[in-house]
Amino acid sequence: MFGIVGIPVTEIALAAQEVGIRYIGMRNEQAACYAASAVGYLTGRPGVCLVVSGPGLVHSLGGMANANMNCWPLIVIGGSSERSQETMGAFQEFPQVEACRLYSKFSARPSSIEAIPSIIEKAVRSSIYGRPGACYVDIPADFVSLQVNVSSVKYVECCMPPPISMAETSAVRMAASVIRNAKQPLVIIGKGAAYAHAEESIRKLVEQCELPFLPTPMGKGVIRDNHPNCVAAARSRALQFADVIVLLGARLNWILHFGLPPRYQPDVKFIQVDICAEELGNNVRPAVTLLGDVNAVTKQLLEQFDKTPWQYPPESEWWKVLREKMKSNEALSKELASKKSLPMNYYTVFYHVQEQLPRDCFVVSEGANTMDIGRTVLQNYLPRHRLDAGTFGTMGVGLGFAIAAAIVAKDRNPGQRVICVEGDSAFGFSGMEVETICRYNLPIVLLVVNNNGIYQGFDTDSWKEMLKFGDATTVAPPMCLLPHSHYEHVMTAFGGKGYFVQTPEELQKSLRQSLADTTNPSLINIMIEPQGTRKAQDFHWLTRSNL
Ligand code: ADP
Ligand code: MG
Repeated sequence: MFGIVGIPVTEIALAAQEVGIRYIGMRNEQAACYAASAVGYLTGRPGVCLVVSGPGLVHSLGGMANANMNCWPLIVIGGSSERSQETMGAFQEFPQVEACRLYSKFSARPSSIEAIPSIIEKAVRSSIYGRPGACYVDIPADFVSLQVNVSSVKYVECCMPPPISMAETSAVRMAASVIRNAKQPLVIIGKGAAYAHAEESIRKLVEQCELPFLPTPMGKGVIRDNHPNCVAAARSRALQFADVIVLLGARLNWILHFGLPPRYQPDVKFIQVDICAEELGNNVRPAVTLLGDVNAVTKQLLEQFDKTPWQYPPESEWWKVLREKMKSNEALSKELASKKSLPMNYYTVFYHVQEQLPRDCFVVSEGANTMDIGRTVLQNYLPRHRLDAGTFGTMGVGLGFAIAAAIVAKDRNPGQRVICVEGDSAFGFSGMEVETICRYNLPIVLLVVNNNGIYQGFDTDSWKEMLKFGDATTVAPPMCLLPHSHYEHVMTAFGGKGYFVQTPEELQKSLRQSLADTTNPSLINIMIEPQGTRKAQDFHWLTRSNL
C-alpha cells in the first residue's frame, strides 16, 4: 500500500500495517498511485493507493488514468467526507465515486461497513479479470470511527486467480496458415504479453519458426533484446514492409502508428491476439482475431507448428533487408556515441551507461529524447523489467515506478538494482520522492540526463545573454529550465550520494561507485548538449501527415 495519510485515512494505514500490509508513505498522491500501479504490473496483483478526501483523491486521478490506459491492475482507496454532511460543503467534499468513473473499470462506495469486504473483493477481482485496470473504493470518514458487531460482517474469501481463456480452434488453424504463407512476417510483442508471463511460449514460437520480432517499449525483455531474431534496430523498416504481423498483447494505437500506411503496407495481414474483445479490429481490419490469454493462445499456435513443423527460411531476402538496416542503424548510433566533443550527447551517455548496467536490473525511464534514445541503447534481458511513460505518455512516473520496482526487488531478489533514467524536466514532476527513496533506504540509481530544458534548453551563457533583453517571463523560451541546475543536491539533502558529471570519465566513475554501493541511493546529474536531439528519422513522430 502506497499513499499519503491525513483525515480520514490515517487509521486505515495503521490498521493495514497491523495486519502485515507494507505501507509506503509518499510525498504526492500522483507518485503514490504510479507506484501502486507498477506493483500491479510487476506482480499481477493490484497494489493499493490510499488517499485522503477531495484534493488527495483528485491528485491520484493522474495515476489512475495512467494505470487504466496501461491496462495495469490498481486499487485506489479514498477517504471521503462524512455522509451526514454530504451536499453541505463538508471538509474536502467532492463527488469522488463519480469522478473516478472515467479513470477506472469499477468505482463504488460500500453501502455499509458490513459491505466493505465484498466491495473490496469485487474491486480486486475487477482489477485483474479480463483486461486489467484501475478500481476505486470510497470510504466515508464516518466509516472509520463507526463501530459494528464483528459477527455481522461477512468476510468473503479473495477471488481465484483470473480464469484463462483460449481462442477458437478454427481461428488458431487459420492464423497458423496465414503465418506459414507469409513472405515477410513479423511478430510484435507488447506489454500485454509481458503482463501475461508469456515469455516462454513466445520465445519458443519465435525460435521454432525463426520469426523476426519487435518489442514495444515495455514489451522489451519478454525475449532478450540481444536475441538474434530481435529486429528492434530496424523498427521502421520492419513495420513498413511486413506482410503478416502477429500482434501479441499490443494495441494498434499511436505507439504502433495505428497499423496504417505509410508506416505499414496497405494490405498487411494482422493476426491480433488480445484478451479484450473490444480491442480486436481497432484501426485495422485484422486477417485473424485470436481472443484469449496471450500465453494460452501462443501455446495453441505452437501446437499447430508442433503438428506440422514449419520454419521461415533464415536465408530469405526479408532477413537480409532487416539485418542490413540493423547494421547501418547500429553503426550510426555508435558513431554518434563515439563523438568526443563536450558537453556529451545522448548517445555517448547511454553507451557508457549500457556498458555498466547489470543484466538483471530494472530500467525505469522517462523524458522525451532521454526515453526515446535511451530505449534504443539500454538493453533489457528479462521480462517486466522496463517501466516508462507508457500508453498515456505520462511524465512524472519515474520515481514512483522506481520505488515500486525496488520494493518488489527487495521481496523477491535482494541485490537486484533499479536504474531510473530521467530527463531533467521529467525528474521535476516528482523530484521530492527522492526523500521517500532515502527514508526507505532503497538503493536506486537515479540518472538525470540534463539538457537544461524540455526537449531543448540554453547553456548558461545564452541564458544570461537572453536576460539582457527582458524579464525571463517575457523572453525565456517556454522549454527552458534553469541551466546548470545541481539536481544531485536533492539527493545529498536527504543523505544519499550525489554526483555532478560533465565528461565520459566522470560518468563512468560515478556509475561504478553508485552500482558498487548496495545500501545507498544515488543521483548522477549528467550535463549534456542543451541542443542535442535524436539522429535523423525516416518518419517524424506524431505528425498527422505522417500517420
Ligand atoms: P504496448 O504499449 O506494449 O503496445 P498495450 O498496452 O497497447 O501494449 O496493449 C496491451 C494489450 O494487451 C491490451 O490490449 C490488453 O487488453 C492486452 N492484454 C492484457 N493482458 C493480456 C493477456 N493476459 N492476454 C492477452 N492480452 C492481454
Ligand atoms: Mg531535458
